[in-house]
Amino acid sequence: MSASGELLARLVAFDTTSRETNLALIDFVAGYLEGFGVPYELIHNGEGTKANLFATLGPADVPGIVLSGHTDVVPVDGQAWTRPPFALSESAGKLYGRGTADMKGFLACLLALVPAASRAALRRPLHLALSYDEEVGCLGVRSLLDQLAQRPVKPLLCLIGEPTELKPVLGHKGKVAMRCQVHGAACHSAYAPQGVNAVEYAARLVVELGRLGEALRTAERQDPRFDPPFSTVQTGLIGGGQALNIVPQDCTFDFEIRALPAQDPYQVIHQLQAHAEATLLPAMRAISGQSAIRFTELSSYPGLDTAVESEAADWIAQFCGSRDFGTVAFGTEGGLFAAAGIPTVVCGPGSMAQGHKPDEFVTQAQLDGCDAMLGRVLAFACR
Ligand SMILES: [Zn+2]
Repeated sequence: MSASGELLARLVAFDTTSRETNLALIDFVAGYLEGFGVPYELIHNGEGTKANLFATLGPADVPGIVLSGHTDVVPVDGQAWTRPPFALSESAGKLYGRGTADMKGFLACLLALVPAASRAALRRPLHLALSYDEEVGCLGVRSLLDQLAQRPVKPLLCLIGEPTELKPVLGHKGKVAMRCQVHGAACHSAYAPQGVNAVEYAARLVVELGRLGEALRTAERQDPRFDPPFSTVQTGLIGGGQALNIVPQDCTFDFEIRALPAQDPYQVIHQLQAHAEATLLPAMRAISGQSAIRFTELSSYPGLDTAVESEAADWIAQFCGSRDFGTVAFGTEGGLFAAAGIPTVVCGPGSMAQGHKPDEFVTQAQLDGCDAMLGRVLAFACR
């Protein structure tokens, strides 16, 4: 097994499901970096149970390259794993374990680069940025970006190592996840018209959302670089009511908007709110003044849309040996780095076809390819 493969075994052994602490993994990485004399800082969450790690190899006072990945993984609960998810196993050139593709494989390659990078005469710095809570709404990286914004020099480039099979990716959609709480008025169902049926009003909002989603599919709003080539709206959870013979007082549903980078997802939310205010609430309040429709944002991240004609695109093409730029359907922390003014690209080992699934794996060949790509990043930083 390669050095990156051995490091991957160490990383997979830490259960860093987003609901758990990531501190044991962060301690391991910190100790590893100390062994090579690499300075780093930790940025903890409010409770002190999780941390981002930001390390710098080479001169800190000139613009460099941020190599970024998240340390958390999605749960294995309810998945039919045929192998232990938190112990790396190998078979026929594939390395199995939770997070091997998404995205501890990339983190392992970053750590495997450290011995050479710590000895190299770097003219530009390489920064390692490890975050927490990416899988639950890109939460952790925000405090890391706040810290970065305090620094006098802005990085040249951020490379997010999410699994793209090492293909250069310049864009992805943005996402907003929302909760809508409909509050009506309960009564005996025999007198249904005297109540305000929260389930029925929620259903009208869900239908309206579907209609708004349809409107986003029109040809002039499409962008063929994405699959599907338009923004989408989806209601994914709904709950309300107590018993069939009670008019339900409350109903809550969660929905999301996945927007093309050029489109504003909040427009859909504003349209839905306007529909609620103008059409639904007057009828609800005519029966009960307590009626309400509340919207809360659960999480969001912006889209990524790095120009093909840009230095960032030229550099990643150089590093991965391809100008076959693509987009990915899933979101990354890249949108947040880009929003912070740092040119950002996505390229990493493994495939999201294996991410979030039982028996997740990355191939040794992909790790080798990533080691080679990072070798070219190191060579660039020495020029
Ligand atoms: Zn990921």
